[in-house]
Amino acid sequence: MCNVLEDEYHFILECCLYKGLRKKFLPVYYYKRPSMVKFIELLNNEDCLLIRKLGSYVFHDFNIQTNYVYSIYVLSSGMNVYITHMT
Ligand SMILES: [Zn+2]
Repeated sequence: MCNVLEDEYHFILECCLYKGLRKKFLPVYYYKRPSMVKFIELLNNEDCLLIRKLGSYVFHDFNIQTNYVYSIYVLSSGMNVYITHMT
């Protein structure tokens, strides 16, 4: 989607597709000036609330990604299908 390696780091801290969700679920400290150190710190944290928010973020991201990939497939295949709901 972004012409970069779509790894976990990009998925959680960088990808512009999830900017809104990132703002909703993750503390600004982690994504404002992202780094691998902050990413590892985020994954290793023991704050139950932050872990829950990270889980929600990944869950919603995955839904967006699935819908995005599906819509690209539909558009590229010429199928006459419209996606009416995107979480
Ligand atoms: Zn991306």
